[in-house]
Amino acid sequence: MKVDILASGSAGNCIALTTAGKTILIDAGIARTKIEKRLLEVGIRPDSIKAIFITHAHGDHTKGLPMANKYGIPVYATVGEWKGISGVNERLQRTLETRYGIYEPTYLGGVTVHPFQTHHDAYEPVGYAIEPDDGPRACVVFDTGKVDDDMLAMMEGSIYIVEANHDRDMVAESSYPDSVKARVLSDLGHLSNEQTATALAELITGRGEQIYLTHLSSSNNLPALAEATVKAALARRGFRAGKHYHLEVIT
Ligand SMILES: [Zn+2]
Ligand SMILES: [Zn+2]
Repeated sequence: MKVDILASGSAGNCIALTTAGKTILIDAGIARTKIEKRLLEVGIRPDSIKAIFITHAHGDHTKGLPMANKYGIPVYATVGEWKGISGVNERLQRTLETRYGIYEPTYLGGVTVHPFQTHHDAYEPVGYAIEPDDGPRACVVFDTGKVDDDMLAMMEGSIYIVEANHDRDMVAESSYPDSVKARVLSDLGHLSNEQTATALAELITGRGEQIYLTHLSSSNNLPALAEATVKAALARRGFRAGKHYHLEVIT
């Protein structure tokens, strides 16, 4: 699977995943023209995108959705998140349905996309596991205040694109108003480096998994700190970067 992180962070998030000859986007949180430009830079024609999957309706995940209308790309989101999304042509709107509380997967021919519930102050946010018929399974987990056991089960795979939003101490000492601090640190906020490290320590088995740390806060995190926190947690499990897994911090 080819992973192209077109944007990451509070200014916008957009991931292109190419597998089985198809490219899908997870979120479209930067301007349409920027998505087009960055896709072309990594050799992907914007008109070849098969689908856009949205984690939640916050602007840093949806701002570039006019792209869907221009190229006629179907957009997938939960019932709840559609309440917060505007401007997508009705004929392109696809709803991720649940059956008995579990999201139905979407099969796109050669690749299946499994949504799963995350925990964030949005209507009905989700993360995604992307499973090709042949090849490694990937997951994308952006804004979530915690990682629960159901999420861990869905995330298991070979490629991890996971939020490492903040360092708790940096948030506590920041100039943010108390209400914002409380929101970021809550179970419906964002993952701290420690939370991400703990989740990855449960998931990584040392088979050469690829980890991308994403959605870093520009004011309350440092790439070196996120990297060191995850590496330390994995070292406690006996895993070394470059040998048992690969780690990239996206800034
Ligand atoms: Zn959000
Ligand atoms: Zn976000």
